[in-house]
Amino acid sequence: MTIAIASTLNTDSLSTVAASENYPSVSTNQEYDSHEKETTYVPSIKWPDLTAQLFIHIGCLYGLYLCLVSARFYTTLFALLLIHLSGFGITAGAHRLWSHRAYKAKWPLKLILLVLFTITGQRHIFMWAWDHRVHHKYGESDSDPHNAKRGFLFSHIGWVVLTPHPKVIEKRKIIDMSDLEADSFVVWHKRLYPLLFVLLAVIMPVGIPVYCWEETLWNSFWVNFNARFSLTLHMAFFVNSIAHMWGQKPYDKNISPVENLGVAIATLGEGWHNYHHVFPWDYRAGELGNGYNPTTVLLNFFAKIGWAYDLKSVSPQMISRRAKKTGDGSHKNIYWGYGDVDIPEEDKLELDA
Ligand SMILES: [Zn+2]
Ligand SMILES: [Zn+2]
Repeated sequence: MTIAIASTLNTDSLSTVAASENYPSVSTNQEYDSHEKETTYVPSIKWPDLTAQLFIHIGCLYGLYLCLVSARFYTTLFALLLIHLSGFGITAGAHRLWSHRAYKAKWPLKLILLVLFTITGQRHIFMWAWDHRVHHKYGESDSDPHNAKRGFLFSHIGWVVLTPHPKVIEKRKIIDMSDLEADSFVVWHKRLYPLLFVLLAVIMPVGIPVYCWEETLWNSFWVNFNARFSLTLHMAFFVNSIAHMWGQKPYDKNISPVENLGVAIATLGEGWHNYHHVFPWDYRAGELGNGYNPTTVLLNFFAKIGWAYDLKSVSPQMISRRAKKTGDGSHKNIYWGYGDVDIPEEDKLELDA
């Protein structure tokens, strides 16, 4: 069953695996235009994926029930800790490092992020980054894998269990993935994914409570596989649904992504989504001082010890210019400190006085 889940979560599997091996390395606008054509599209259910999701979710409810009635306190605590810790594998790893190239990482950090990401069970890195790049490049169109214009349910989880729009498959073929094809961590993660999934997303989280504090295998499975897995999945999916629907748009009011504190709290700082879609190469995925962002704190720590380097960010001036040009007016000037050139002249005079 677990291998079935690994493989069904592995891709929009039924229709895209064939396409996965032969895309051109460089996309151009001409290629993009030539692929634009009207297509009649009727989605159908991917039954293996739907079955896996039903198993995960029904098991999650049962696992939460067991947390209340028979699981040991440490088992619940362990699941919560693992949800948060492994979340960094998504945010700092698959997202900011591998999807957006917002910084570079030395091999020990890559290894840590790869392990953490695998614990979440959210497909292999290449597939995750592939869809995510398409989401950014062709957002809110038929080519967006989880197009928020198709409603909350589709953008949150419907896209996982439905066949993708043909335009998604077209755009996957032309998005540049050559950097990840050359990244040995990503390549080996893809090759060994079913095995790594079983070891790190099932055996390890279920086994630790059994061996370390004598939890029953039954309790540990439903809590530390189903419930943990399902909650992690929904926290990540909030970014595709809620953070494309409800919140402010200080940087670009013409796109659907928003700034949402609730999502930022649930996702270790990934809720500053209007900013992130405008400046996807910024390793902070949010404006300096904007709010809750533990992933940025973690990356700053790894930058200090030299494991993360070449961190890309956006200057306050560029942010301010963009907010004035396309923002919804909710942008507040945020300064890095005394001497910031964005501090208005009259404020500067008063400060100096
Ligand atoms: Zn992104
Ligand atoms: Zn988005």
